[in-house]
Amino acid sequence: MKFALEDGVVDAVLGIKKGADTFDARPVLITDPNEVMETAGAIYGGTLLLSKLFGKYLNGSKDLKIAAALKGCDVMGVYEQAKRRQLNLDNVLMIGLNCGGATTPAMMRRIMSEVFLVDPDSVSKVTMYKGHLNITSEGGKKDISIPKLEDAGYGRRSNCRRCKMKVPRQADLACGQWGVREDRVGKATFVEVCSQRGADLVNAAQEAGAIGTEVPDASCIKARKRREDAVLNLADEWRRRDFAPLSNSKDRLKMMIEETARCIKCYTCIDVCPALFNTTKPYITSFPGKVPPEFAFHLLRYFHVADSCIDCGQCEELCPMDIPNALFMHAIEADLEELYGYHAGEDVSQPAVSITKEPDV
Ligand code: SF4
Ligand code: SF4
Ligand code: SF4
Repeated sequence: MKFALEDGVVDAVLGIKKGADTFDARPVLITDPNEVMETAGAIYGGTLLLSKLFGKYLNGSKDLKIAAALKGCDVMGVYEQAKRRQLNLDNVLMIGLNCGGATTPAMMRRIMSEVFLVDPDSVSKVTMYKGHLNITSEGGKKDISIPKLEDAGYGRRSNCRRCKMKVPRQADLACGQWGVREDRVGKATFVEVCSQRGADLVNAAQEAGAIGTEVPDASCIKARKRREDAVLNLADEWRRRDFAPLSNSKDRLKMMIEETARCIKCYTCIDVCPALFNTTKPYITSFPGKVPPEFAFHLLRYFHVADSCIDCGQCEELCPMDIPNALFMHAIEADLEELYGYHAGEDVSQPAVSITKEPDV
């Protein structure tokens, strides 16, 4: 991305850098190539979604060419926003990142004090590698297996556990540590080239001496696949667990009505959703003066987003009343995906329901 900026391939880089502490992330738009390295490294306690920032702050990338570092849900959100004409996909160079999942800053602090028994403020580094959460604090290094952590009620956000977009190959490049040889971990990146634009960037960066490349051997490719398969199998398991209480439609409706009864109608779940856009809001917010709102308030939102939910988790994580919005939406989306074969966030095709015609009677 530093090379892309220096060479004029893009005008700016959108990334994430450390915020207030080790468990906080903040988005940055960078135009000085020397600042790009500030975004290096993963922040597992940061759960930001970048896709709506393009429309909200960057004029839909209409005037700027932007290279963006995007995990799976970000890439999916970018596609959903592009379909709704909220950003110009031609101007976004998507540098996809492998992602095993993220944990909220608040959960991270609990894990540090309740599981690792260390002061969260003494933790200087957190990594996830080979199914383990590793930390470095004043007391030294510690680690725990993620399945063990999650069985004990801690760990990644529930939407991340169910997520199957671990390697976003609909980006221009898909990069990450999975498949990197043991002796090169932290020093090299496994890059899958997924588009001509991605290939052009890698070739130009290599010719300019900005990067060195080598072909991964068969064992690296196998190791990458093993890692990906392991997280996908785990995601299937979490889908089974999470969707089980919702499998019966009556139970699902009952649970939705009960859980949404504590809604304070703050509209956050609408504002943050990458599969909704602003002109949808008036239709959903037309129940003035009533808190909690009628259940129809939620039904209208479900109706607008159901087939396009990318399970990014934002509507649940940022809901001040802890309503499991993402779980409900993802359960419906998974059913619709099975019914229509439409996969939200994977490309620019239109949602199946929006183009399905009623049969003639
Ligand atoms: Fe990563 Fe998927 Fe979670 Fe996004 S939803 S942070 S891509 S695991
Ligand atoms: Fe209701 Fe939560 Fe949505 Fe706010 S974010 S409108 S409280 S469901
Ligand atoms: Fe993300 Fe929720 Fe919108 Fe689904 S409904 S895309 S989980 S914000």
